[in-house]
Amino acid sequence: MHNTSPAPLPTIGAFHPPRRILLGPGPSDLHPRVMAALGQTVVGYLDPVFVGMMEELKSLLRYAFQTGNPLTFPLSGPGSVGMETCFVNLVEPGDTVIVCRNGVFGGRMIENVERCGGTAVVVEEEWGLPIDPQKLEDALRAHPEARVVAFVHAETSTGAQSDAATLCGIARRHGCLSIVDTVTSLGGTPVLVDEWGADAVYSGSQKCLSCTPGLSPVTFSAAAIDKVRARKSRVQSWFMDLNLVLDYWGATQRTYHHTAPGNSLYGLHEALRLLAEEGLENTWTRHRRHHAALKAGLEAMGLELVVPEAARLPQMNAVRIPEGVDDLNVRRTLLQEHAVEIGAGLGPLAGKIWRFGLMGYSCREENVMAALAALEQVLP
Ligand code: PLP
Repeated sequence: MHNTSPAPLPTIGAFHPPRRILLGPGPSDLHPRVMAALGQTVVGYLDPVFVGMMEELKSLLRYAFQTGNPLTFPLSGPGSVGMETCFVNLVEPGDTVIVCRNGVFGGRMIENVERCGGTAVVVEEEWGLPIDPQKLEDALRAHPEARVVAFVHAETSTGAQSDAATLCGIARRHGCLSIVDTVTSLGGTPVLVDEWGADAVYSGSQKCLSCTPGLSPVTFSAAAIDKVRARKSRVQSWFMDLNLVLDYWGATQRTYHHTAPGNSLYGLHEALRLLAEEGLENTWTRHRRHHAALKAGLEAMGLELVVPEAARLPQMNAVRIPEGVDDLNVRRTLLQEHAVEIGAGLGPLAGKIWRFGLMGYSCREENVMAALAALEQVLP
């Protein structure tokens, strides 16, 4: 016998988050049109109307990624699912993978390689600097057995941008496929998949695309698909096995794989329509313009940017915390008294830097002004 009456629960009110100005490392603010799209009625994931929207999403993503790759679609899951999908499909036990690390997310790539049973050869770079292409060249000469090169285009943990075209070119010359993380770059700074010749590229919905978190746009070259098809072993993840996912996203005759997060996809569809309406060039220019204003204001307050100018991401601005200033207290006061969220340092940079994101719909003049005015009041 068990007691069938559940323990009483005190009344819980509806959740109403306060309005914030999201100027951290993501998520970013949502455009009102994206919010409206999210609240539309649910339809089935095989409904012809929904399937039509999926096809439009693929076209919109090809524009965002600047690629003609037929295999371009949003995975159901955050950027981490995009990262893991690339590794579990392209890395087999025993494979050697060159991983470039200049921040937190390169470190996660190493873990992914090892969990796939591969060997990671790490090209280390100082945090805050872009990957030095010569170091990749040297690593590939020393490891002719390597078949894949992986790197983060826009390191969110530091705000450094690496030269993706050069790194992908080196990988290709050495007979390697490239895995490129564009979680923070897509929609903020040029991501030119075909021009780079990148093979497996993933991103996230919640940064410069300004959609809700939980979707990971990906695109795969023909060479990447050939590699997946030629695998000797089965992909160890059922959910992320591209051969299976494609029965839903790739085929003309769609079959059930998993229940697609429909409303989030409506939101992404609208976010990508906004991107296309503004145009990529204009979007990149807007990010650079507001970055310049933010940088001028931060420097006027005596704050120093971490990344050398040539490699600075406009959408992720890391500054050193001045000596004697209480990191947590400043961030807490900004949030609680000024509704401004900024990012803390990660890993070895924890307590040493702040990160000011200017991503997607968050990247607006009034937000730059609000952040600078708030910081001026909060800094001792
Ligand atoms: N890669 C980079 C460069 C990121 O900035 C992030 C998230 O901040 C991720 C991967 C993981 O994305 P998510 O948090 O959406 O899983």
